[in-house]
Amino acid sequence: MQKFSNRQREGGRTIALVPTMGYLHKGHLSLMVEGRKRADILIISIFVNPTQFGKGEDYQEYPRDLTRDKKLAREAGVDIIFAPKTSLMYPPDYQTWVEVREVTRNLCGASRPGHFQGVTTVVAKLFNIIKPHIALFGEKDFQQLVTIKRMAADLNFDIKILGMPTVRENDGLAMSSRNTYLSPRERESALSLSRSLRRARELVSSGERNTTRVIEEIKGIIGKEKLINIDYIKICDTDNLKELKKIDRKAVMALAAKLGQTRLIDNCILKP
Ligand code: AMP
Repeated sequence: MQKFSNRQREGGRTIALVPTMGYLHKGHLSLMVEGRKRADILIISIFVNPTQFGKGEDYQEYPRDLTRDKKLAREAGVDIIFAPKTSLMYPPDYQTWVEVREVTRNLCGASRPGHFQGVTTVVAKLFNIIKPHIALFGEKDFQQLVTIKRMAADLNFDIKILGMPTVRENDGLAMSSRNTYLSPRERESALSLSRSLRRARELVSSGERNTTRVIEEIKGIIGKEKLINIDYIKICDTDNLKELKKIDRKAVMALAAKLGQTRLIDNCILKP
């Protein structure tokens, strides 16, 4: 992979990278379409990264279908799929970790200890292996995007990090490989997540600035759904992810919830 990328760079060609865990959907494809426009060579990685899953999480069950992914990637104009074996990414003597501190403390970082360390470590490795000029990430995983931007700046990666809007199903559900876990009844309940985010935006555009009041109303909407257990609902500064008392600047409303064993996340931007 490194030799291939070196040859492209020596030939003056630019490289775009879309890192994924596979089981591709339209959210992933939107990143590829943008990547295709922004560089000469489009590379995606497909790697279900064990180090970003905690104990008891869904590493084993995570959906995988490389044959289907290859077809979708080809249709999206992908030049190379980098799909390494786990034992090559993490040989037995592996012992190096990348940790971004402040922005990983809150939100999913609090519920999933070690998760972001796994993410930043594997993304740093992918950057060094694939040597892209630009890498694209979804705003669906807002904290991940902020964390990768921080890492790239702090560790002087000469790579542009581009965030892309969340792609949703027609009924509002944010696309996710994990949606395949949902039963029809759970999926119906899950719609309350995106519905509540829309309500939060309405409240803010009609003048509400108090985060507690917005969060209480959202909790009320999601709380009606018996199948949902809320993990967190928070309104944070979009840059440092610290919680806000007032929506007096660009903010992100981020939430995580469990439906049975399935953990879903979603977010939206709130602007005063
Ligand atoms: P994953 O395969 O879930 O690790 O996601 C790979 C990339 O696709 C990440 O940058 C995600 O943020 C992004 N992504 C996942 N779901 C969506 C979505 N619904 N809309 C836009 N981007 C997404």
